[in-house]
Amino acid sequence: MIQLKGIAAASGISIGPVYKFGKEEFTIIKEAVAWENIPAQIQLFEEALIKTRREIIELQKRISSDMGQDEAQIFDAHLLVLEDRMLIEEVISRLKKEQLNVAYIFSEVLKKYISVFSKIEDEYLKERTADINDVGKRILRHLLGKERQSLSELKERAIVVAHDLSPSDTAAMHRQNVAGFVTDIGGKTSHTAIMAKSLEIPAVVGVEGFTLRVKVGDILIVDGNTGTVIIDPDEQTLSNYQEELEKLKGIAARFISVKDLPAVSKDGKTIGINANIEFPDEVLSAKLHGSEGIGLYRTEFFYMNRKDLPTEEDHYQAYKYVAEEMSPREVVIRTLDLGGDKFLSQLEMPHEMQSFLGWRAIRFCLARPDIFRLQLRAILRASVHGNLKLMYPMISGIEELRQANSILQDAKNELKVKGVAYNDKIKIGVMIEVPSAAMTADILAKEADFFSIGTNDLIQYSLAVDRGNEKVAYLYEPAHPAVLRLIKNVIDSAHQAGIKVAMCGEMAGEPGLALILLGLGLDEFSIPPQVIPELKYIVRAINIKAVQVIAKQALLFSTGKEVESFVQEKLKEILK
Ligand code: PEP
Ligand code: MG
Repeated sequence: MIQLKGIAAASGISIGPVYKFGKEEFTIIKEAVAWENIPAQIQLFEEALIKTRREIIELQKRISSDMGQDEAQIFDAHLLVLEDRMLIEEVISRLKKEQLNVAYIFSEVLKKYISVFSKIEDEYLKERTADINDVGKRILRHLLGKERQSLSELKERAIVVAHDLSPSDTAAMHRQNVAGFVTDIGGKTSHTAIMAKSLEIPAVVGVEGFTLRVKVGDILIVDGNTGTVIIDPDEQTLSNYQEELEKLKGIAARFISVKDLPAVSKDGKTIGINANIEFPDEVLSAKLHGSEGIGLYRTEFFYMNRKDLPTEEDHYQAYKYVAEEMSPREVVIRTLDLGGDKFLSQLEMPHEMQSFLGWRAIRFCLARPDIFRLQLRAILRASVHGNLKLMYPMISGIEELRQANSILQDAKNELKVKGVAYNDKIKIGVMIEVPSAAMTADILAKEADFFSIGTNDLIQYSLAVDRGNEKVAYLYEPAHPAVLRLIKNVIDSAHQAGIKVAMCGEMAGEPGLALILLGLGLDEFSIPPQVIPELKYIVRAINIKAVQVIAKQALLFSTGKEVESFVQEKLKEILK
């Protein structure tokens, strides 16, 4: 049994066998081939070489525009492997001589090459082993007619182990047999972790070198509450965890009992409790967990895992479905927030898009009004089917809000000309997730209908800590005095201007910190659906007057750790 620590990314416990993702392993069967079928096998081989060549050139082009010429040149060595006459001729001559299937012959020749190269003393030539291996795998994949590995291949429930998972890999876990996942890298509020939470998949990220320590078939316990992963647990540990699972079910039952009741404090203040979703059909889970509305619909996931960009009609149908399903409850649609750790294969995106401080979210939309207007038109059209609001991500100052609104006006005009119905009074919200927006909340509040604080980004930008980087995860502190002060400023400014403030970052779903947020006067929480019952339970157990005192005290501490332990104590008293 080996016990390792990582970062708790999505709560829950799961036990299951390892499924390694990202490393391609093929099963190759040796088969006899009749003499008359040898030409067909040669043709299959030639086609595989051509397809692989096309694939590498495509990849090279993408890398060259995203990262630069130098990086792209690495793949020249891969192309050279494809042109290696010795290798090609050896495969063809063995095919004729041995009369076996080309996949088998090629894999044998490949093994021989790899073994010869790996024994060479020269460091440079030795490194070519990786190139040959890589290209060889591509050719083999084509010979076997296989697609690149996808999580949809997972036939039984297992725990996915990967070096890293992109948000689109995680999005592909949707309704697959993924019982949990563990990655070598990543942080608590990376979009991969957020997706895991909304899919209710227990996850631990940032377990250094984990993929090297496990093999397919090992049994794992993933404890997403504490960030612990156990490889091959002994019987005692297994039964302890099974007991823990039962206990958690008991606690959940207590919370579940209030899930459909309103979130009203003991002294009569009603708090809005909404859900965050990434996919339209999550509205069902949101309602099941007692959500009063959707406070954040992350529409960019709609662009992922598909070959082309969604059309206006695709957008419209998705938004209409969500609006109708939730009606008369409100649904806040957040416009496209691409960039950072969320990017698309359909758009030619420069490497710069992968920077959190770069061409992201509203900046991208303002530069691509064609893409933005198409989405806005779809939201407007759907707005007649329910209670829709819209909000813009990553606004850093009033000018961006005005520019976005002017494009919104263009979209409205286009619909008006065509005689298409829409709600002209649709409410426009601003996400407060950049420190400059938090500091100028008083200015923004004059021109916004509501605010929603995106703490996932607000924390990373104000503390200068990449949200997905496990190396600096210890600095990522929602309870940091700087973060609390910014939040207080946003809430006070909004209330002075007479508008409401929601919070849709993960911080809103941290029960201890919720006490401070309630005390500071936050009007609405938008959180992963499965946290809703617990938060409702907390709101119903507190007095606003009492949490105002807690918030005041919390703001006097000098460190996030002091704040955390203070609120945990208070929470224990409340949940007693
Ligand atoms: C946030 O930044 O807090 C937020 C809700 O947006 P996202 O996590 O999608 O960046
Ligand atoms: Mg954000």
